Amino acid sequence: MTTLPASHTPPAPAWTLVIHGGAGTILRPDLTPEREERTRAALTRALADGSAILEQGGSALDAVQAAVQALENDPAFNAGHGAVFTAEGEIELDSAIMEGTQRRAGAVCGVTRTRSPVSLARKVLDDGRYVLLASAGADRFSREQGLEQAEPAYFATDRARAQLARWHEREAAGLPHINDEKHGTVGAVARDRSGALAAATSTGGHPGKRFGRVGDSPLIGAGTYADDRACAVSATGAGEFYIREGLAHEIAARMRFLGENAQEAADTVQAETLALGGTGGVIVVGADGTPAWSFNTEGMYRGVAAAGAEPVVALFGDE
Ligand code: ASP
Repeated sequence: MTTLPASHTPPAPAWTLVIHGGAGTILRPDLTPEREERTRAALTRALADGSAILEQGGSALDAVQAAVQALENDPAFNAGHGAVFTAEGEIELDSAIMEGTQRRAGAVCGVTRTRSPVSLARKVLDDGRYVLLASAGADRFSREQGLEQAEPAYFATDRARAQLARWHEREAAGLPHINDEKHGTVGAVARDRSGALAAATSTGGHPGKRFGRVGDSPLIGAGTYADDRACAVSATGAGEFYIREGLAHEIAARMRFLGENAQEAADTVQAETLALGGTGGVIVVGADGTPAWSFNTEGMYRGVAAAGAEPVVALFGDE
């Protein structure tokens, strides 16, 4: 016999991938069956793209980038193609990516021409000199790196135009802005077979945001964080509150120093942020590969895949 019996071969080390496509007022009556179907299919595709990398022994970093890129390319989500407009009708995109072993990170904010903002964040990470590049400087770095550029028309969708029109109506009437206009972002967290963690997030922000406003997504420790000693986190929700909470790092710190598991840490920090007034959701993968999500909105577009398990996709709060 030249090979060991299968019973003596240890199972391949596990991998885990969790994704989100935004949290907010996501209710069954508000989604047409077609829209629900398309959204589930898009989440399934993004999980498949990231899973293929992890299954072959690829890195968590490559996997979260691939999953986020798939969602950026899909007009159903508020990132890349489909991103929401600023009050002036412009596109300003934010993204971050981080790996948990060396805790290298790359992020961009206020990007206007890069087709895939997470790819630009990855270039910043790989370049290694900086962590966060903004606006025209980030756009220039993107061109220098030879990334695919897109005209503003590429990002624009009828859905984003309608959201901005509603935002202006409510603004003119002095009405508070509603949840489904505020949320929507994409993100992924993963643990690969080597045990390395990574997180990535990409967003257009929220409709009607002020020119120059930057949310939590590209801020390391707020909307995005990865540390192999604790967990990887990507958030979606009320960015200003998540920045004030230092939400993603706070979850990692609770796991590291208090020994909480991913679910406990996510739920606690979500509750603390809600107490300040900030709603939204997070996805987490622990150092041992345990996935978790926690949201206090009606729903969150989300999905999870793991070695040897059927991928799961969910949209509403009760599934
Ligand atoms: N957190 C994002 C931001 O504030 C928006 C969202 O996730 O819906 O830019």
